[in-house]
Amino acid sequence: MARAIGHVTIVGLGLIGSSIARAVKERLPQVTVTGHDASADVRVAARALGFCDTVADDPAAAVAEADLVILAVPVGRMADAGSSIAPGLRGDAIISDVGSSKSGVADALAKALPGHLVIPAHPVAGTENSGPAAGFASLFEGRWCIVTPPAGAPGEAVAAVTGFWQALGAKVETMEAAHHDRVLAVTSHLPHLIAYTIVGTASELEEVTESEVIKYSAGGFRDFTRIAASDPVMWRDVFLANKEAVLETLQRFNEDLTVLQQAIRRGDGGKLEEWFTRTRAIRRSIIEQGQDDAAPDFGRKH
Ligand code: NAP
Repeated sequence: MARAIGHVTIVGLGLIGSSIARAVKERLPQVTVTGHDASADVRVAARALGFCDTVADDPAAAVAEADLVILAVPVGRMADAGSSIAPGLRGDAIISDVGSSKSGVADALAKALPGHLVIPAHPVAGTENSGPAAGFASLFEGRWCIVTPPAGAPGEAVAAVTGFWQALGAKVETMEAAHHDRVLAVTSHLPHLIAYTIVGTASELEEVTESEVIKYSAGGFRDFTRIAASDPVMWRDVFLANKEAVLETLQRFNEDLTVLQQAIRRGDGGKLEEWFTRTRAIRRSIIEQGQDDAAPDFGRKH
């Protein structure tokens, strides 16, 4: 049996935190939502946008009534956020987070919140925008949320976190934190690193002007710029926190890049075609499994 959640406190009211609050208001109207953010400007914006029942100035006061507390701050700020709520937490509250890497966050929260029940989670959903105005209630619909309970976590608390995300429209999978970090290094962290690299490289080329890069960006470059516009602080923290898995995946990527480099140099068209046919099939599987739209050019209007 899942533990009942009647009051949720969200700490960090940016893209993800404000989207959770909006989704709760829409899908779980019986649940009370309290919000807190370290930034006074964000608290003012959150009050004006009205997605929480209450926005508290003090983190400990914000969590005093909470059955479930969700930390939605950058990965490198989880320890601070945990320490700031510790004095106000009820002994039986469940603490969770939405961090994009899990092993480091689990360690940081275990230290910051000794004796408290922490059930980490990661909604694999987001956009390149940040801040309280960027959130929207449907962000998690049909998306995966990965829950990474520590060994021995009580089943009713894991079920409460799982049920909460399902109620917001997400599909939930449970796995170990270390496995999550390896999977996300491939599916999210490496693609962001590549996008940051390509966009940075293009802007520094001497023989191609910046205006040419922008003018002819529809050739492929434009799609990388969306990812490379993601929040600098959030992504700095993700790479520092998931260092080992990212470096291991990057090593594999460099090896594969060398294979393609050789194929181009040797004029091995068969190798290139075989590779590109395999990658096209992966795109088709993503569409078939409802993780993206089949509309050409990502549904852009021309
Ligand atoms: P965001 O829009 O930048 O919002 C984060 C908010 O947390 C900011 O308002 C920030 O204030 C505040 N904050 C920082 N430290 C705090 C503290 N100690 N106590 C209270 N508030 C604090 O970031 P986001 O995109 O929502 O990301 C939040 C978390 O979600 C990150 O851990 C990220 O890895 C994870 N995530 C993000 C995505 C995505 O696509 N964006 C997807 C899945 C998961 P300041 O700006 O003043 O520091």
